[in-house]
Amino acid sequence: MYRLKRDYFKECEGSGLRLVDYKSQPAGYGLYTFEGCGHEQLIQYVHVREGAFRCISCYENERSEIYTRAGVKFVSDLCEDRDKNYKLVEIVACGHTQAIALNALKSSEFSCVTCKNNRWAEEASMHGLEVVGKGRDSRYLTYRLPCGHEQDFQRGNVKRGIFSCDICNGTKHGKDRKSYLYMLLIKRKNFEWIKIGYSLDIDRRVKQYQLIDGCSIRLVECIEFPNRKEVAAVESKIHSSCSTYSHDSGIMEAFMLGGYTECYKIDNYEDVINIFREEVENAKDFIR
Ligand SMILES: [Zn+2]
Ligand SMILES: [Zn+2]
Ligand SMILES: [Zn+2]
Repeated sequence: MYRLKRDYFKECEGSGLRLVDYKSQPAGYGLYTFEGCGHEQLIQYVHVREGAFRCISCYENERSEIYTRAGVKFVSDLCEDRDKNYKLVEIVACGHTQAIALNALKSSEFSCVTCKNNRWAEEASMHGLEVVGKGRDSRYLTYRLPCGHEQDFQRGNVKRGIFSCDICNGTKHGKDRKSYLYMLLIKRKNFEWIKIGYSLDIDRRVKQYQLIDGCSIRLVECIEFPNRKEVAAVESKIHSSCSTYSHDSGIMEAFMLGGYTECYKIDNYEDVINIFREEVENAKDFIR
């Protein structure tokens, strides 16, 4: 006659669980009811013994309540290893995707980084500037001027149109030198993206990105231009043609602190590299 090695019914007494069925379940598992909430769940006997269980239905309800209250939709645990509680979510109001700490979701203490960056980019472009990175502190951003030089300005001053180029105005020394238009593939674990930009010194520029640990970088295109003005024009054409392939900056800020605005999806690699090569070809008279 079949005899239970252990008395599974007795074993779970006082644990908040009630054993419903053990015969027709996978080996090692029993079907239990949580006495508190009434949810049923398959749990391993060994976990019941160790007290290592929780109601998954209640846990998921709680999570989905947090997301609903915060006005977001859960996407994935993409940034899990940076901080266990970082979730990739879609902000329902604007549709942008962003990595947000679970605690910030709980207290609704977050705002859309992509919308904010878009607003700053718009304010800059009204005055012919382009935002290229974070500035020396939170009041500043690094801007690229129409002359191709880059400088930190206070956002409020840019909004009011109060700025000028220190290099062109001779208050700072600088010579218009050659510049490189580049395309990089940056990969971290199973997330890979395309980064396009220009710089006199690509290595230095990559350091300014302040990528999080564990990224590998591959240079796939590198074109030398004689001066910044030409390369700036080509780069801006590429960016406007590629805009539909770009990642929300709210995602990219989880990976890099600078250069997070002009990152493109790896799925659109063929389109992006074709546009890059086409614009370079159109500008070949300027290239050495
Ligand atoms: Zn439950
Ligand atoms: Zn947004
Ligand atoms: Zn200048």
